[in-house]
Amino acid sequence: MISLLLHACCGPCSLEPVRLLRAEGFEPTICWTNPNIQPASEWERRLSTLRDWAANVAHVDVVVAGDDRAAWERAVAPAGFDRERRCRACYALRLSESCRVARELGFTHISTTLAVSPYQLFDACGETLRALASANGLTPVWRDFRPHYAEATRESRELGMYRQNYCGCRFSAAEAAIERHAARDERKRTRAEARVRI
Ligand code: SF4
Repeated sequence: MISLLLHACCGPCSLEPVRLLRAEGFEPTICWTNPNIQPASEWERRLSTLRDWAANVAHVDVVVAGDDRAAWERAVAPAGFDRERRCRACYALRLSESCRVARELGFTHISTTLAVSPYQLFDACGETLRALASANGLTPVWRDFRPHYAEATRESRELGMYRQNYCGCRFSAAEAAIERHAARDERKRTRAEARVRI
């Protein structure tokens, strides 16, 4: 087994990456560094969900790394609703802290659970992980876990895990709320049109 530090964004997104990486011959240790998650109560809830699952179900160690919220406000928040620029900066902040921890703890390989979510900017995240891993003398283990997202959703529901409905920052919470409202309006419009046809 090759030891690997796995940056994790939350519990539900960790299920499949941990299983698949183990099947490949890696033994992951989870690294939590997510200063993007707002508000603080949400950060605590996601970490607690992750820790419960890691300790009682997956039997995987969790390292809680730095969560520099001031750095997130400086490096990421100014991008506002420019999603590409904002998320690239957010990935860079979290994965750079993960690389620092990996080096400090003697890991040679690094990965992230962000690669399981179809809602993330997959290519931007992969480029960021590769660049930072190379700058830190680490081997990036970048896999497309997205085909396993549906299974992660099913299993996390079955386990009764808390599942959030936005990525993490205040901008993503606003964007997700707008999308939900738009979807609800569309459903109403479709129902109204169907009634007219009857
Ligand atoms: S949407 Fe997610 S990845 Fe992008 S900046 Fe917000 S928390 Fe970070």
